[in-house]
Amino acid sequence: MCGIIGVFEPKKTNEFIAQELTMLGMFAEQHRGQESCGMAVSEGSVFRHKKEMGLVKQVFTPEVLSALKGRIAIGHVRYPTCGSATYYNSQPHVVETLAGPSFALASNGDIVNYHQIRKELETEGVYFASENDGELLIKFIVYHVDKKGFTITEAVKHLMTKVKGAYSTVLATREELYMFRDPHAIRPMVWGKTPGGSYVAASESCALNILGIRDFNEVGAGEIIIVSDEGISRTNTTVKKLRHCIFEHIYFSRPDSYHFGENVYQVRENIGAILADIDKVKADIVLPVPDSANFMALGYSRRKKIPFEMGLIRNHYVGRTFIKPEQTIRDEGVQHKYNTLPNFFEGKKIILVDDSIVRGTTIRKIIKLIQKAGVKEIHLRIGSPQVKYSCYYGIDTPTKEELIANKKDINEIKDHVDADSIIHLPTETLRNAVSNPDNYCYACFDGNYPVKK
Ligand code: AMP
Repeated sequence: MCGIIGVFEPKKTNEFIAQELTMLGMFAEQHRGQESCGMAVSEGSVFRHKKEMGLVKQVFTPEVLSALKGRIAIGHVRYPTCGSATYYNSQPHVVETLAGPSFALASNGDIVNYHQIRKELETEGVYFASENDGELLIKFIVYHVDKKGFTITEAVKHLMTKVKGAYSTVLATREELYMFRDPHAIRPMVWGKTPGGSYVAASESCALNILGIRDFNEVGAGEIIIVSDEGISRTNTTVKKLRHCIFEHIYFSRPDSYHFGENVYQVRENIGAILADIDKVKADIVLPVPDSANFMALGYSRRKKIPFEMGLIRNHYVGRTFIKPEQTIRDEGVQHKYNTLPNFFEGKKIILVDDSIVRGTTIRKIIKLIQKAGVKEIHLRIGSPQVKYSCYYGIDTPTKEELIANKKDINEIKDHVDADSIIHLPTETLRNAVSNPDNYCYACFDGNYPVKK
């Protein structure tokens, strides 16, 4: 998963603050990727860029930002899905051509026919420096503009017919900013205008809000939006069947974001209420595994009228445990991340709500922690169906073998995590949590992959 941001500051303002706005947006999207971050800025004649392993605040210090002044900027925060966590695989990718235009690109998603398209381009003499799908997108566009005489818009339209998968993308030239999204609109992408008149595209609306943007739109499925000093122009959308990632609502996105026509927090609350409806167990309190399950536990508590409590406290400086490329780093993260309130759990029967179980690492440790604190019973309620299939559209669940739901049945999982009972939300029921359930991809739960190679 990754986060993108693109800023176009109109010439008339002449403030050269695109890099500052981009940094703030990247910071708001830090939850989408913590391994590396990068920014490319055009100040008219040249692109300046910087990417590095690490967090936005560490990499983009005031000194670094002052060397990146410009009017058009794009930024990226990354956690690896396509290609490992290295500098070369990080984004944005920049291609400077001497005679023609120069480009910088950042994208979120995964390309399912990556190898085929790469081979086709390599046969035509195109060179690749990384294994990252963002590089594939920019090289595809540059090849068609530079060697085939396409306009940029034609190249992107052509890309949408050839390249399959998820790609919410920002593309900067020296004079323009392009925003586009794959025809299934798998990953979120929104855009709006700051009070100062700059156009901004982002993965999530929380990144627009931080820049003072309250009114915004979603980039349409298969739509291209071009921003220049003449204003904006938009192409017709080339919608295929919409296939938004349901996991964005369950776990990935920030609860204060709005996309796929829904408030993320509201979907999570709905999930909690639906979980409560199918649950017969009696308990003293309901509590979430913070933070992603907070609103689910709230929804559950409101529906069942069981008190909502926060018994687990999360250390926010550890980061998201899952977004670490290796299991050993993940394991360490979980242990340092949570603590129990003192004198809180003794003798209590609790409903513990979590958003999902993937490898089963996190919840097992959390349950041990709560048991040590003297709890009487733990009834585990999961706000999603069992994750049984890998995601090929940008979420890090690489092999089926790593998913606990593929190795154990539900009773074995209950025993493995040592809960007194366990209930997952069935897919059919999860559909009731969103307004347009047919517009979503549920492949990680049911194996129905909507976009094939
Ligand atoms: P685990 O079962 O230990 O592999 O981790 C599951 C927990 O990690 C869930 O409760 C989520 O909070 C979080 N999580 C689930 N899916 C993902 C994902 N694809 N990327 C990052 N974190 C995730």
